[in-house]
Amino acid sequence: MKTILDLKPVFNPDENPRPVIIAGPCSAETEEQVMETAHQLKNIGIKIYRAGIWKPRTRPNAFEGIGSIGLSWLKRVKEETGMLTTTEVANMKHVYEALKFGVDILWIGARTSANPFAMQEIADTLKGVDIPVLVKNPVNPDIELWIGGIERLLAAGVDRIGVIHRGFNTYSKSVYRNDPHWQLPIEIRRRIPNITLIGDPSHMAGKREFIMDLSQRAMDLQYDGLMIESHCDPENAWSDKDQQVTPEHLKYILDKLILRQPKASDQQAITLEEMREEIDKYDQELLEIFDKRMRISDQIGTFKKQNNITILQTSRWDEIVTQRTNTGLSKGLSEEFVTKIFSAIHQESINRQTRIMNSDDKVN
Ligand code: PEP
Ligand code: MN
Repeated sequence: MKTILDLKPVFNPDENPRPVIIAGPCSAETEEQVMETAHQLKNIGIKIYRAGIWKPRTRPNAFEGIGSIGLSWLKRVKEETGMLTTTEVANMKHVYEALKFGVDILWIGARTSANPFAMQEIADTLKGVDIPVLVKNPVNPDIELWIGGIERLLAAGVDRIGVIHRGFNTYSKSVYRNDPHWQLPIEIRRRIPNITLIGDPSHMAGKREFIMDLSQRAMDLQYDGLMIESHCDPENAWSDKDQQVTPEHLKYILDKLILRQPKASDQQAITLEEMREEIDKYDQELLEIFDKRMRISDQIGTFKKQNNITILQTSRWDEIVTQRTNTGLSKGLSEEFVTKIFSAIHQESINRQTRIMNSDDKVN
């Protein structure tokens, strides 16, 4: 039986040097959209085209994928552009269909890799088939479950297996759609040193503006490549429209990517990323608290307007500065820092209350 040490690289470095870029729409929607996106991506140098044919959606009645007809469009993409194609499979039927239409690489989605029954079914279907498979991380941050999926495929004889890091579902509020938890993919790489590791900044981000930064972080952690969702008309995409980028935008991102040689050791890099992730969370919490605080200020503004009270009450401001500075000092924050922050907050409150005072809204 094959073990994780028998794994072969998914990509040949001569044909697909690092960084390997897999791009294409979240979903195949129409033949025109699939072909137009493919030609635009081919023109910017992309060699591997992705498109979801069957979409695992959280709620029914959302667009659940175009189904097998879309595979004939992917075949056309391959014929017309020479790009390799890849799609998501989640069960035996998907695997049969994808193989029938000559899809080059299969990927397994995050909801499927979390399900050992589904992983076993896919592995059993792939017995004796030589095709590369990319396994996305399961939705929950369970490294054993992720590796378990790889082992099921290996036991079925599949030896070109890579992983896609797409982030993990989160219950708490986060800037990202799926929290990266960079330490998990790095731990996979520690345990399986020759595994092909691809980042999926699109599904981590959930918003196109975070893709650049997440892509750079993945490259700095020595990922082999990236899978990025790209659509010829993202605003009108049938799924994941906020995170898709046009091929032109993708080119801009890829041109800006810096390929650094490893400086920090893997362990140092993980530690750094973990700390940065914590900072991201706290910054997000700060913004949410500022928002809550400003809403209360607005309520006070309305109250002052109703009762004809002046906005600025000097005694209240003195009290705030003194009290906050003392608390800050007791926590080791400098007086200058605390004063600056509270002056800015106070000024913003005054600005908002002034707007409320001067608005024409009738106060009952
Ligand atoms: C996708 O790649 O479009 C997809 C459904 O991703 P995930 O399995 O990561 O949610
Ligand atoms: Mn998607």
